Amino acid sequence: MAGTEDGVSRRAAMASLGIGALGIGGVALAQDASRPPVDLGTVVDGKVLFPPSQANSEAQPAPPPNADAPADRVGFAIVGLGKLALEQVLPAFAQAAHARPVALVSGSPVKMAAVAKQYGIAPDSCYTYADMARLRDNPAVQVVYVITPNALHRQHVIAAAKAGKHVLCEKPMAPSSSDCNAMIEACRAANVKLMIAYRMQYQPHAREAIRLARSGALGSVTLMDMINNQNQGDPAQWRQIKALAGGGSLPDVGLYCLNTARAVLGEEPVEVSAQIWSPPGDPRFREVEDNVAFTLRFPSGAIANCMSSYSTHRLSRLKLIGSDAWAEMEHAFDYQGQNLRVTRLVDGKDQIAETSIGVKNQFALELDHMAHSVRKNLLPRTPGEEGAQDQRIMEAIYEAARTGRTVRLAEVPGHDRFRGPESLPQ
Ligand code: NAD
Repeated sequence: MAGTEDGVSRRAAMASLGIGALGIGGVALAQDASRPPVDLGTVVDGKVLFPPSQANSEAQPAPPPNADAPADRVGFAIVGLGKLALEQVLPAFAQAAHARPVALVSGSPVKMAAVAKQYGIAPDSCYTYADMARLRDNPAVQVVYVITPNALHRQHVIAAAKAGKHVLCEKPMAPSSSDCNAMIEACRAANVKLMIAYRMQYQPHAREAIRLARSGALGSVTLMDMINNQNQGDPAQWRQIKALAGGGSLPDVGLYCLNTARAVLGEEPVEVSAQIWSPPGDPRFREVEDNVAFTLRFPSGAIANCMSSYSTHRLSRLKLIGSDAWAEMEHAFDYQGQNLRVTRLVDGKDQIAETSIGVKNQFALELDHMAHSVRKNLLPRTPGEEGAQDQRIMEAIYEAARTGRTVRLAEVPGHDRFRGPESLPQ
């Protein structure tokens, strides 16, 4: 109703609607009980709730996000102002409800000053890598989010823990199991939380696919098929340098297949086999691998077939194949564009149903999950132990490819053994 916000036109509009029930300018008018109040919504625990306006046959919209006032949000320091930080993470704070950026750490004062200005971060909350110990003196910082090249995660996570801050660390956690263990130990010693940024476990379509698989809605899920790849450019970038990246397509993009395959049923694989091939003479693959195909076998008998590549056109897809139905997700591991379809027999014919799931920024969900875990003193859903388990399995994948043999993994009975509760902020 455009143009009704000033007193006169608003009153005229209300009169034309027959709405004179509410006070205007503080003057209570006679109530007409047969008409709804002008301003719908009830406040419960500081949160506005609306009555349903559509029939039961319609999907009811989610309630408005229960966003905290900016000053009440959990403060994050961003370490490393590269592409992921600037293109995804910092913009995602605008869609988060419980997290805000309050400090930056970078090796480039010029870039940091520009970014600090964009996000309203004070100059005295900007630090160099060598200065990270000073984060201890900044009470606004509760969480340090490490978004630097993989091999630097260890030193930056440990510096943050020593400064007494909780840590969110990008994937892959680190290039070796011993690095992962040192990071977990440093956070434990400092009594701070450590979460690995596995955004897929917070992404709504992926969560629904996992729910379908675990609920039996697909029957018994015994096969999974996953691929995640991209075609790399500049051979000089850190991702192509083993000392900084730890490996090639496997820890960078294949890790999404591995981590999601583990999350689908919550089981830990007992066996891996693998093949790796890199085109000879391609400067991008002097140090790190290109194509990886690996197979995981789980205790229930389920098998996951996974592929990653650094030299093929971007494709990101998963299939969960059960006895009664199968689910597939296109753009499964991308930042956006996910869709989830289930194929099953209905009235004697195969029917493909697409589940409509509201789009949410998965980085914002991840940030809010960390904020919630800190506030409620919960283990994050994807703690350091989750990253360390992936690293152990990736080491077994490399060994399987090198030896041409199936590698057995330590048995981990039970479900979700390396994960915290699914708890999400309301
Ligand atoms: P990037 O190269 O764009 O940024 C890396 C940042 O680290 C830059 O600011 C760079 O200046 C800084 N840096 C500090 N020391 C460095 C050094 N010695 N060499 C190179 N850079 C150095 O990389 P990115 O794509 O932002 O990736 C950063 C991390 O985020 C990686 O661990 C990566 O795997 C992860 N990542 C995750 C996702 C996801 O979807 N979760 C996506 C992309 C990247």
